[in-house]
Amino acid sequence: MAEQRVKWVIGNWKMHGRLADNATLLQAVAEGAGAVAEAVRMGVCVPTPYLAQVQAQLAGTAIAWGVQDISTHAHGAYTGEVAAEMAAEFGATLAIVGHSERRAYHAESSELVAAKARRALEAGLTPIVCVGETLAEREAGTTEAVVGAQLDAVLELLSVGEAARMVVAYEPVWAIGTGRSATAEQAQEVHAFLRARLAKKDASLAGVALLYGGSVKPENALALFGQADIDGGLIGGASLKSQDFLAICAAA
Ligand code: PGA
Repeated sequence: MAEQRVKWVIGNWKMHGRLADNATLLQAVAEGAGAVAEAVRMGVCVPTPYLAQVQAQLAGTAIAWGVQDISTHAHGAYTGEVAAEMAAEFGATLAIVGHSERRAYHAESSELVAAKARRALEAGLTPIVCVGETLAEREAGTTEAVVGAQLDAVLELLSVGEAARMVVAYEPVWAIGTGRSATAEQAQEVHAFLRARLAKKDASLAGVALLYGGSVKPENALALFGQADIDGGLIGGASLKSQDFLAICAAA
């Protein structure tokens, strides 16, 4: 089964970047992408104002691009929001939804995240649905209950056909930007749980790509990506350094 699933390594730039820095980074990543196995899909999710820049620099390469959040609406009086269709007009094919930073700082509920996933799909984007527990939740032994509920909200709203087109990223909150990655075994355990949950909803969903995120570095990527149910990674800090990002892609 593992060899049939799509492998992904997707950079999440978060609120980092400036035109000049992006140009250098994108050029280096585009130049290095040729050495990454064709079976690995590479992507970068950038701050929305840089979509045109990314489109100009990555068009014609094998690297996909996208945004880090989208509105639950297609258009209308929603000041400050960006519709999935707007990102798609700039060639975006990816949209992160439900990142823990949005759940935490913007009070995004799992139901809202599910609505965003559906919007992304309606606009032809692949949603990267993030789930993950906090340290307190892990220590309380509720990891599976937390990530299970986060996934269920999406599975309840999407049709099976829609859900088959999403990517899920398991990102333990305590591992994000902390330098403290989950061990390969810890990550695999949760991935296996999520895959079983998907398969229980419908057997066809067992093939959904499940990425790990949280302090992935060139040093730990190989061990993480070598796990049976880990299909690649969502990379924050290390995606801002071309050499590190390319090394992680090569490990997938
Ligand atoms: P990190 O972030 O790799 O910097 O830990 C991952 C993420 O938040 O997507």
